[in-house]
Amino acid sequence: MLSIHAFEFNAFAENTYLVSDETKQAVIIDPGCYSREEQRTLSSYVDENKLVIKYILNTHGHVDHVLGNDFAKDKFKAPLLISKMDEATTRAVRNYAPLYGFDAYREAEPDQLLSEGEVVSFGNTTWKVLFLPGHSPGHIGFYDANEKVLFSGDVLFAQSIGRTDLPGGNFETLINSIHQKLFILPDEVVVYPGHGPSTTIGEEKISNPFCALSLIR
Ligand SMILES: [Zn+2]
Repeated sequence: MLSIHAFEFNAFAENTYLVSDETKQAVIIDPGCYSREEQRTLSSYVDENKLVIKYILNTHGHVDHVLGNDFAKDKFKAPLLISKMDEATTRAVRNYAPLYGFDAYREAEPDQLLSEGEVVSFGNTTWKVLFLPGHSPGHIGFYDANEKVLFSGDVLFAQSIGRTDLPGGNFETLINSIHQKLFILPDEVVVYPGHGPSTTIGEEKISNPFCALSLIR
């Protein structure tokens, strides 16, 4: 049974997820904590719940999703796993982070590069890595088929989709990722996105104004 806690961090209102199971082993998805207070919020939650962080995971390499990588690696002594195809996107952050006011950003060295079909395991939990390009060239998602849970990053949101105007973004590619990789999942799968509230695959298939199946002719 997964325990999923969402934090909303940094100026982009990015969702950082702390996910654990009954073994108390846990992963952090997209640590976006930047301020001291946000860092404390994250580490206090880990301490109070006596969690052991096994991995730090990134869905993609945009600034708002990676701001806390360095802090989390240092604090929890856990390896950082990012998408192989998004490594260049991640490496580019140090060049533009100061332009967004994130002067204190420090790049963290990834420990493992993930590709489509690989698995990430912690405790009694096993997730599949889904390759979901379009918002960024190497965007990935994490799917738990047993618990019927998907961490979709900035691909699919409740009633919206990720922007495609950033470097390496492509609208058609994004829509294809959603239709071919996500809308084939069971309707009851709960989607935890990189911004905003959670939703389900079934709900978005019917009513998402950008990619509902009724829009396909
Ligand atoms: Zn993004």
